[in-house]
Amino acid sequence: MDELDTPVLDNHLHLDPEHGRGMDAVRDFVRLGGTHLLVVNKPSWHLGPVPSERADFRTAFEATVDAVADANEILPGEAWPVLGVHPGLISHLVDEGHEPEAARELMQSGLDLAAEYLADGRALALKTGRPHYEVSDAVWDASNAVLKHGLALGAEHDCAVQLHTEGTDDLTEVAEWAEDRGLAAEKVVKHYAGGELAGPTPSVMSEKDRLRVAADAGEPFLMETDFVDDPDRPGAVLGPKTVPRRVRWLLDAGHDDAVANAHVETPERVYGIDTVGTLDSGE
Ligand SMILES: [Zn+2]
Repeated sequence: MDELDTPVLDNHLHLDPEHGRGMDAVRDFVRLGGTHLLVVNKPSWHLGPVPSERADFRTAFEATVDAVADANEILPGEAWPVLGVHPGLISHLVDEGHEPEAARELMQSGLDLAAEYLADGRALALKTGRPHYEVSDAVWDASNAVLKHGLALGAEHDCAVQLHTEGTDDLTEVAEWAEDRGLAAEKVVKHYAGGELAGPTPSVMSEKDRLRVAADAGEPFLMETDFVDDPDRPGAVLGPKTVPRRVRWLLDAGHDDAVANAHVETPERVYGIDTVGTLDSGE
C-alpha cells in the first residue's frame, strides 16, 4: 500500500456493489493511499423505476448505507453516506407527465426521507441541487424550491449540503439562501467544482488544472472524482484511484498546505469530521 502520511478523502463518489465494481473500487482507492470516502447515493432511477412516492427513494438510500458499511471494513479511515435526490430527476418526472409542482413535492419528500437518516445518525450530509442543463422556467423555479428545501433541512439538522448545479464559479446567491435559512455558506458544497468558487465550498474535480487553481488560491476546498461505478459508462468520470494519485502529485509539488486544507481542515470545517483521529494507527 502506498503511504502518503496524510488522510486522503474523496468527497464525492458512488459505489454500486450490485452492478458496478463496488468494494474492488474501494480496494483500488486504498492501495493508492486513499483513506476516507463520502459515498453519495446513485440517482434513484438508476436502481429501479422512476420514483412515484417517497418510499421509493429508500432503495437507493439503503444500498448506499450498506455499501458504506462494507467500505468501512476495508478503509484505514472511514466512509460516510451522503443522501439526497438528484436534481435531474425532475426532468424524468416531467417526461412521465408530472407537473413541475408535483415533481417538486415528490423530490422534497425524498429529501425529507434523507433527513430522517441524518437525524438517526445514519448519514453525514444531504445532496440536492438544480439541473445543469437548459430547462423551462417552471422546472427551474420548482428546482430552486427543492434546493431551498434541502438547505433548510441542512440548517435544521446542522448538516452540510452537497449541491449538483450548473457549471459556474459564482454561487453567492445560493450561499445567501443558505445563510437566510441558518446554514453557514461554508457548509454548502458544490460538487464537480472548478478550482475557485464564490459562495459555497468547492468540491474540486481532481483534474490537474483545476487542482492547481485551488492550491494556488489557498481557500478551503475538497477533492472528488464523482466516480459513478457504472459498468455502462466506464470512462464517464475519474476513477477511484485519482484522488490519492493527485494527492501524491500535490505533495511532490510542495503543496503540503493544500493537501492539509482539502483532506483535514476543510472536512472538519464543513462536516465536523476528524480525518486524522479516524485513521488507524497503521501498526
Ligand atoms: Zn455524483
